[in-house]
Amino acid sequence: MDRILEVENLKKYYQRIKGFSRKVIGTVKAVDSLSFSINKKETLALVGESGCGKTTIGRCIVRAVEPTDGKMSFFDSAGEKKDLLSLDFEQLKLIRRDIRMIFQDPFASLNPRMTLMNIIGEPLKIHRITKSSAELKDRVAELLKMVHLDPDYMNRYPHAFSGGQRQRIAIARALALEPSLVIADEPVSALDVSVQAQILNLMKELQEKTNLAYLFIAHNLAVVRYQSDRIAVMYVGKIVELSDKNQIFNRPQHPYTETLLLASPNPNPHERHDKLHQVKGDIPDPANRPTGCAFHPRCSYAQEKCKHETPHLIDVSDEKTEPHLVACHYWDELNLLTKLPTRHPEA
Ligand code: SF4
Repeated sequence: MDRILEVENLKKYYQRIKGFSRKVIGTVKAVDSLSFSINKKETLALVGESGCGKTTIGRCIVRAVEPTDGKMSFFDSAGEKKDLLSLDFEQLKLIRRDIRMIFQDPFASLNPRMTLMNIIGEPLKIHRITKSSAELKDRVAELLKMVHLDPDYMNRYPHAFSGGQRQRIAIARALALEPSLVIADEPVSALDVSVQAQILNLMKELQEKTNLAYLFIAHNLAVVRYQSDRIAVMYVGKIVELSDKNQIFNRPQHPYTETLLLASPNPNPHERHDKLHQVKGDIPDPANRPTGCAFHPRCSYAQEKCKHETPHLIDVSDEKTEPHLVACHYWDELNLLTKLPTRHPEA
């Protein structure tokens, strides 16, 4: 498979500072030695509870925040490998044409003082893609049509639109420069359930038309299953399981993945439970990460070794299937599948 992005041992640490003396009282490991790759035309989902570091990864890739350590490589349209961390300002500007972001809140991400023409046309002007105002107008009209909005709306302001329509505008802006990778950070979680499916379908439709890849950051497992090809499950800054979506849903091998699946509502009326499984305890403070396996205080299967030894990601797939990476000392003894009903039939 052709890669579009490779991330190796990415780290983003923040120092926790106290008082006027600005004394360092701890280190928050928001992202800790994380590795993954995304293939062309693929959707990789990052899932996990709030505060697990998902958003920080997206921001590191576009260098909105500077990683503490690691390596990130992007493969441009000519297949040339670019080291994202060694780019200067001008090179970074060029790469940002290829990697765009869509944010969670379409009310906050659009400038209320700008018309759709200016919002969607701005990146085209900055990167000098269009040569005249007539060409700019034509391209904005084309982008509005791509996201199923009427081009006649181009002189209106964002306040005239619903949440779903605003997210369509944000998508049109993200696609203006014809990127090959879009980082979508919880793109539907601020929207009404009734419009979430429209936006998800639109994103799929645009992927088919333009061959782009998505890094899809979300916490809703039903949404992730519908939208993604592969899923990386994150816990306190680390990936604990990564595989094809069907493996994750039907053959989870990590107790945290099992916990997330059992805690998510099942839309299948034949399998609904009266009571949802609750996740034990709270997600730990990343500045005070538990020793050994960070999930051990909440894991029903934890043993003494889990408190002291950190499990590393290993490939547990057989030769016939896609890689299935799991970080658990006891993955082969737990038989998690036997306790899970068939989850979330394909949408
Ligand atoms: Fe649970 Fe131990 Fe596996 Fe961590 S390593 S998930 S604590 S069984």
